[in-house]
Amino acid sequence: MDIHEYQAKEILQGFGVKVPPGGLAYSPEQATYRAHEIGGDKWVVKAQVHTGGRGKAGGVKVCSDEHEVFDAANAMFGKKLVTHQSGPAGKIVYRVYIEGGVEIERELYLGFVLDRSTERIMVVASSEGGMEIEEIAEDEPESIVRSLIDPAVGLTEFQAREIAFELGITGKQMQQAVATIMGSYRAFRDLDATMVEINPLVLTTDGNILALDAKMGFDDNAMFRRPEISELRDKSQEDPRETRAADRGLSYVGLEGNIGCIVNGAGLAMATMDMIKTSGGEPANFLDIGGGASPERVAKAFRLVRSDENVDAILVNIFAGINRCDWVAEGVVEALTNNPVDVPVIVRLAGTNVDEGRQIIADSGLPILMATTLSEAAKISVGSCPRHEDKINHTAEAA
Ligand code: ADP
Ligand code: MG
Repeated sequence: MDIHEYQAKEILQGFGVKVPPGGLAYSPEQATYRAHEIGGDKWVVKAQVHTGGRGKAGGVKVCSDEHEVFDAANAMFGKKLVTHQSGPAGKIVYRVYIEGGVEIERELYLGFVLDRSTERIMVVASSEGGMEIEEIAEDEPESIVRSLIDPAVGLTEFQAREIAFELGITGKQMQQAVATIMGSYRAFRDLDATMVEINPLVLTTDGNILALDAKMGFDDNAMFRRPEISELRDKSQEDPRETRAADRGLSYVGLEGNIGCIVNGAGLAMATMDMIKTSGGEPANFLDIGGGASPERVAKAFRLVRSDENVDAILVNIFAGINRCDWVAEGVVEALTNNPVDVPVIVRLAGTNVDEGRQIIADSGLPILMATTLSEAAKISVGSCPRHEDKINHTAEAA
């Protein structure tokens, strides 16, 4: 789960990270009021959307009077912000954050991520902040500092000092930098975060260290014990397909292709997507309906996959271990009888009671294409609908 910049800043502030004064606004009038409250003679109006790269896409505006603040906010509200990170669908701006303008001397990068290969939290920092970490890795790879945190000890002050030193921080600023690094780490660890990114972390001309941007992501599976964090969820920023799925207890990730997938088990779902690709097709989604896929869950999954209008065929791939193929087959038949679909449906069943399952589908008289192996199922799916690429080209020509 992701949260907004202003929410991440509030959290980090609670852990001792310094941020500029700021306030949230839901209208241009409120934006000017916020600017007035903050005071000073320079403000930054920032679109609150769950994506980075806002600056380059017009989502961060520096203003020098309240009229400019009004106009900048007015131009952002209700607009779709498409950044190079947001995907073509973009994110709609419903909230803006007004922040005091800061005189920047130097922009740094500070991030915390889970490093899977070492199974540790890793601090990633760079003296070349402001640009994305991918760009830094490309243009200034030698500026990147990586430091692994020993889970038995946690991040030590010594380690934080070493990181700050490598960022070129000296003198009075050292203590502030250590407090920022330690505070961000505690927020990461104490709140079940999967990512904390402060980019840029800036040294100001008057000698302070401030987080000018903040991003936090959290482990969905830990949100049951972090009610104060789950409350920060903003559904307007999520893919509506994924929100619907999450509300129904299904694990779904929307993709760009046109073959809808209904699969039980995450590993099998991944294999199914690979097989579709190998057969020359493009999956429209990842969907794991879980181990004990009841007829109700199968029906829900069908409704979900069909609500994506890009779907030209639906591939159901079930391996019944704990589950039973006849049970799943009943779910498929029930779902399709109650809500017939106008795209080909391909079903591959394997495992417990497979013969009974196949029989139920055959007896239903529904136009379901049966497959025995996964590769056969993928080939039939790809062969039974227009190629995803052709569709894109066709749409492009028509436009
Ligand atoms: P994004 O990463 O989405 O583009 P940022 O919050 O990092 O958005 O803002 C982009 C740039 O705008 C920053 O790198 C910084 O140079 C500038 N900026 C952001 N907030 C402020 C601020 N309060 N004062 C001065 N400049 C700012
Ligand atoms: Mg940023």
